[in-house]
Amino acid sequence: MDVDSTKKFCSFCGEQGRADVPLVGGLGAFMCGDCVDYYAGAVADVRRTGTDAPPPWETMSDPDVLGKLALIVQTGVQVDRFLVEWVQLARSRKLSWAEIGKALGVSRQAAWQRFASETPDVDAGAAPQLGTA
Ligand SMILES: [Zn+2]
Repeated sequence: MDVDSTKKFCSFCGEQGRADVPLVGGLGAFMCGDCVDYYAGAVADVRRTGTDAPPPWETMSDPDVLGKLALIVQTGVQVDRFLVEWVQLARSRKLSWAEIGKALGVSRQAAWQRFASETPDVDAGAAPQLGTA
């Protein structure tokens, strides 16, 4: 699993991880230090006041809204990559395509079709057969 944060992006602002911009997080979502500080303050405000601040898009300009679309796509790609890495982890632990499919709510065949080409292992070249992984 690739843990190099310089290949990841903050899921909240789109900032790419660098030596001076470390990211924290997991399960496909990452956060830069500036966002950690901002959202920690936002959570503290909610706890203190009992009310949530209005969502940021309410005050965004149209170009700002359009500018977020690419960041959302980038975050989706990152989450998809993270899922592939977790399936690779599951396969490296010899978990079956049936188990992976069940965990994802799909058939083992669907899991294999979606991930086998990105999951190099001894079983990746063949579709699962009835009663096998
Ligand atoms: Zn950020």
